[in-house]
Amino acid sequence: MTPHGPRAMVRTGRCIGCGGCVAQAGGSTAAMRMDASGRLRPTGSHAWDRAAATVVAQTCPFSSVVPDEDRLSDTLFPEARSHDAATGRYVAAYVGHVVEGAYRQDGSSGGLVSWMATELLRTGRVDAVAHVHACEDPAASGRLFEYRLSRTESAVRGGAGSRYYPVEMSHVLRTMLAEPGRYAVVGIPCFIKAVQLMRRRHPALRERIVHTLGLFCGHMKSARFAESLAWQMGANAEDMQHVDFRRKHPDRAANQYHAQIALRDGRTLGRDWWPLVDGDWGAGFFMDDACNLCDDVMAETADVSFGDAWVEPYSSDWQGHNVVVVRTPALDAMLRDARDQGRIAVDPVDADFVAGTQAAGLRQRREGLSYRLARRSDAPPKRVPPDAHIATPERRRIYRLRAAISRWSHRMFRLARFTRVRGLYLCWARAALTTYHAFAYRRGRLGALLNRFGPG
Ligand SMILES: Cc1cc2nc3c(=O)[nH]c(=O)nc-3n(C[C@H](O)[C@H](O)[C@H](O)COP(=O)(O)OP(=O)(O)OC[C@H]3O[C@@H](n4cnc5c(N)ncnc54)[C@H](O)[C@@H]3O)c2cc1C
Repeated sequence: MTPHGPRAMVRTGRCIGCGGCVAQAGGSTAAMRMDASGRLRPTGSHAWDRAAATVVAQTCPFSSVVPDEDRLSDTLFPEARSHDAATGRYVAAYVGHVVEGAYRQDGSSGGLVSWMATELLRTGRVDAVAHVHACEDPAASGRLFEYRLSRTESAVRGGAGSRYYPVEMSHVLRTMLAEPGRYAVVGIPCFIKAVQLMRRRHPALRERIVHTLGLFCGHMKSARFAESLAWQMGANAEDMQHVDFRRKHPDRAANQYHAQIALRDGRTLGRDWWPLVDGDWGAGFFMDDACNLCDDVMAETADVSFGDAWVEPYSSDWQGHNVVVVRTPALDAMLRDARDQGRIAVDPVDADFVAGTQAAGLRQRREGLSYRLARRSDAPPKRVPPDAHIATPERRRIYRLRAAISRWSHRMFRLARFTRVRGLYLCWARAALTTYHAFAYRRGRLGALLNRFGPG
C-alpha cells in the first residue's frame, strides 16, 4: 500500500484537522489553515508531505493502519473490565451534574467536564489543561475558537461550553512536546485517539499527558455553521465577536438549543436552532467528511467521557445533565468522593442507559457506517464490516440524503459567499431540510408522496 501523507488524507476526505501531523513537523513550515469550506487542514511543502507519511501512518486517527479504539483501550485501560459495544471499556457510568459553583450554569450539559478539569488542576494532578477557548480578536486571528493551555482554575472555567467549530491541537501539542509538566487534554473522540496514538510514538507525551477527557460526538462542523447562524440572525459573519452555540434558558428544554451571537458593535442576537435552515443536527449540515468514517461516539480511548443525557426526564430539564463513562479507577474515585461530599450529584447507570442517550449517533456511526463503507471502494478498515443491506431501504435513503446534505452544504455555502447572494445557500438549505424531514419523519405532502413512490 502507498503510504499516505497529509495531503492524501485531505484529498480522500479522511483528515479531520486535528493538527497532530503538523505538531510533529519539526522545523518545517507546515501549518494548519482554514480551507475554502471553513475546515482546518494541514498545509506544507511536498518534501514535508512525503516525510510525514510515517507520522500519518502511526498517529493519524483516520490512518488505515493504526490500532482501532478497542485495541488501544485494551492497552490503556486494563483495569476497566466491563466492555460494551457502545461505550467501549469502562469502570463505571453515571448520569448527573455539578452542584457546587456555576459549572452547571456555564457548561453545555451538567458542567462536569469543566468541573473535572478544574479538580485535576486544583488537586495538583495536572499543571495545565488543553481545551478550547474563544479567541479575543476573531477578526485578527480569522477564527472564533482555538485550543489553549489553561493553567489556572478560572482559565479552565472560562473555556466552558461546546464549540461546534473547527479547532486544532498543533500548538498545544508542540508545547507539551517541548515543556515538561503534567497535562490533561479535553477533546472529541478522534482528537483523543490522535493524542493516544501520539503518546505511543513520543515517550515525552506518554509521560506528560496524564489524563484525557473525552466529549461524546455526533459530528464536527465547519466554520460555516457559525457564519450561517449570523446570516440567519441578519448579521454579517465578519462582525461576529463571539458565538454561544448553546445558551441555557429556563423556558426551553435542555435539548432545545438556543444560539446567541455577540457582534463587534456590542449587540447580541439569539435564535433557537430548530427553525434554522440548518439547525437539525441529524440532517448533517456542514459535517466534516471524515465523520462519515468514524465509529466512535463516546471517545472510547479517553480516561473519562462526557455527553448529554438525551433521555427523559433529563432532556426536559433546561439546566442540563451529563452522562459519564469512566475508564480509570482513579477518576472514578474522584467522582465518588465529590459525590459523597455533595459537590456533584451523580447516579450510577448501566451501559444500556448511556447507549440509549446516544441512539441516533450510534445508528449513524454503526449501521450507517456499515452501509457507507459498502458504497466506497477505498473504505479503510473499521470495527463494523461493510454491508450494503444492513439497513432498511428507508434508513439507507436517510444515510444517503444526510451524506448528500453534508457534501452540498459545503459547496452551496461557498457559492453563496463567493457571489454574495446568501439566498443561494439559504433557499437550497431550506429545500434540503424539508426533503430530509419528509424522509426522516415522513411528514407533510412530500412525506406522503415518498411513502407511495419512494425509491427502494
Ligand atoms: C463537536 C461536538 C459534538 C458533540 N456531539 C455530542 C453528541 O452527539 N452527543 C452528546 O451527548 N454530546 C455531544 N457533545 C458533547 C456535549 O456537547 C458536551 O460537551 C458534553 O456533554 C460536556 O458538557 P459539560 O457541560 O460537562 O461541559 P463544559 O463544562 O461545558 O465543558 C466543555 C469543555 O469542552 C471543551 N470544548 C468545547 N468544544 C470543544 C471542541 N470542539 N473540542 C475540544 N474541546 C472542546 C471546552 O473548552 C470545555 O473545557 C459534542 C461536543 C462537541 C464539541
